[in-house]
Amino acid sequence: MITDTATINIKKTDRSRLQEIDLNNVVFGRVFSDHMFVMDFVDGKWQEPVIEPFKDLRMSPASLVLHYGQSIFEGMKAFRNKDGDVTLFRPEMNIERMNRSAERMCMPQIPEDLFLMGLKELVNLDRGWIPTDEDSALYIRPFMFATDEYIGVKSSDTFRFMIFSCPVKAYYTEPVKVKIETEFSRAFAGGTGNVKSAGNYSAALYPAKLAQDAGYHQLIWTDASEHKYIEESGTMNVFFEIDGELLTPPAGDTILAGITRDSLIQLAKDKGLPVSVRPVTVEEIVKAGREGRITDAFGAGTAATIAHIKSIAFEDENFELPALEDRGFSNEVRKTFEDLKRLRVADEHGWVVKVN
Ligand SMILES: *Cc1c(COP(=O)(O)O)cnc(C)c1O
Repeated sequence: MITDTATINIKKTDRSRLQEIDLNNVVFGRVFSDHMFVMDFVDGKWQEPVIEPFKDLRMSPASLVLHYGQSIFEGMKAFRNKDGDVTLFRPEMNIERMNRSAERMCMPQIPEDLFLMGLKELVNLDRGWIPTDEDSALYIRPFMFATDEYIGVKSSDTFRFMIFSCPVKAYYTEPVKVKIETEFSRAFAGGTGNVKSAGNYSAALYPAKLAQDAGYHQLIWTDASEHKYIEESGTMNVFFEIDGELLTPPAGDTILAGITRDSLIQLAKDKGLPVSVRPVTVEEIVKAGREGRITDAFGAGTAATIAHIKSIAFEDENFELPALEDRGFSNEVRKTFEDLKRLRVADEHGWVVKVN
């Protein structure tokens, strides 16, 4: 069993793959760093954690997770700046959200100190994998899944918690064409939309595929009961700039509380931009679109930070938004945000945690 003074047993690889990789030229999510963190929950308690070489898992075909999807995850990043500082951004928020996801999915709470210690040890050990190019990072994937070998719908008694990482370059995407979805739903009241449980994402694949077949990159999700309110954009929170005001719906039952979202709201306030966090109706977005009053719209999440929206379609209409270079606030805040995460500007909110 683990104790407060638990130390992590570290088994280093004797064959690093780092030399084989062009760090500043990797495909997002396809290249994995040398090590992974593993901790099992057995007999009602967490067992000794280990960090070991990244490798395949062996599991029974009867593993509960494969059948009933009892699985949750997080997404965060580590950064390295020119001074050699290795940083995490608000990691306590990911840890807290992971434990909220765990609660909702009948999984055990992960001791916060141990989670943070595991993150830091892993990132420190694989620090050579953090690209130093401007705006590159190490993407970190903590996750937990049910490991009981049993066929029958019940909550597992055993679980595995793991963390691994991927070097990623700056994620500049072309502005995306989105469509306001009024048939399918991502989340519904009383469901799991406010936590990062695996099933949310598999259920969203089909509507996203239909939208892609119709020429869009991404969906804007609306509420499941009436399709009257805007919720999120794909797997990101969504922001609009209308009449000089930044607008985003409140996080809650059906809208995931993004850490990027929370930080952007604060950074907008710091820059003196009026921010309004309130329910946003499809009707007001369509009206503003028709009148050419939407001066900016973007998705917000850890992977891309800000993903600009090029156009918004609703039924037979399509609203083109201003050119990228005319998006004043989002371009400026994106830069401030990327600099802040790497301590290239002062961390006034105490958000950045140094690993070394
Ligand atoms: C992870 C996620 C976000 C963004 O959260 P961040 O903490 O900013 O990365 C937004 N919406 C959904 C549905 C998500 O899964």
